[in-house]
Amino acid sequence: MSEIIQSITGYKVEVCGDVEVLFPCPCCGFRTLTESYNPIEGTGYDICPYCNWEDDGTIDANTYRSINRGSIADYRQKIQENFNQYYINKWIKDSF
Ligand SMILES: [Zn+2]
Repeated sequence: MSEIIQSITGYKVEVCGDVEVLFPCPCCGFRTLTESYNPIEGTGYDICPYCNWEDDGTIDANTYRSINRGSIADYRQKIQENFNQYYINKWIKDSF
């Protein structure tokens, strides 16, 4: 995070604090979600701050989801066309 702040402001800063435990987004793979989808416990439906996908438990990338008005494949296409380079170093990415 200190690298991101320095690249934007030009000032060298030190960032302190505990690292938050986050879950991987099923769409972009970055660990951005504060809770994982679980229909039994009723958790999930977190919206990824990177790709804006709402985690509704969808696994198949080509399934259209009305809650997201698109599929995971659609969202991945949007990321490739328009992504925020500063976010690349913000989260840990899981590979699929
Ligand atoms: Zn995402």
